[in-house]
Amino acid sequence: MDTKQIERITQLVVAALCEAPEDREDRTKRPEGIPVGVSARHVHLTQEQVELLFGKGHHLTPKKELMGGQFACEETVTLISAKMKVLEKVRVLGPTRKFAQIELAATDAMKLGVKAPLRDSGDVAGSGPLTLLGPAGTLTLREGTIIAGRHIHMSPADAARFGVTDGQVVSVRFPGERAGLFGQVKIRVDDSFTLEMHIDTDEANAACIKTGTRVELVK
Ligand SMILES: [Zn+2]
Repeated sequence: MDTKQIERITQLVVAALCEAPEDREDRTKRPEGIPVGVSARHVHLTQEQVELLFGKGHHLTPKKELMGGQFACEETVTLISAKMKVLEKVRVLGPTRKFAQIELAATDAMKLGVKAPLRDSGDVAGSGPLTLLGPAGTLTLREGTIIAGRHIHMSPADAARFGVTDGQVVSVRFPGERAGLFGQVKIRVDDSFTLEMHIDTDEANAACIKTGTRVELVK
């Protein structure tokens, strides 16, 4: 064996010894696991509202691509509640939609003093009011503020593989120091979706889950 071979073997052994046990464990779980995406508070707007807040003719500027053709934008807004509490630099998500929706974690809603019901995305009737402040104007929404229910996006092929259907409610087992079970997780199936479970920052922090953590679907 020459020196180069010995060096190479030494490197491999050192790399194996330095690898944390949890990394090794994670890797074996990966094929069956569902990756988590942690959603921080954000805002969906119509094109008309974008122009109200950011100026006539303004179009959202994509910053980071997300699942299902969505993207995080360079644009942010300030949220102001009727109690005059403020949350700054809240990210706008694109593309624009048919109506506005503000998705908060329960902690954000408490800070603002706004009553935000737990809802599926798109179900905003009678939800919380808020005022949005942008560089070019303000916009007061009488409803649209929700805490989004946790859900799993998947393609029809993934749905067949897991044996679930659109709208089905399942549970999810999560690993780690605060391992546990999430109930009331809604399945959302669409051709444009890639496999990803969405939870908010409160849920992620409470469960020690980060974006990329793999979880297991339990029916
Ligand atoms: Zn989602």
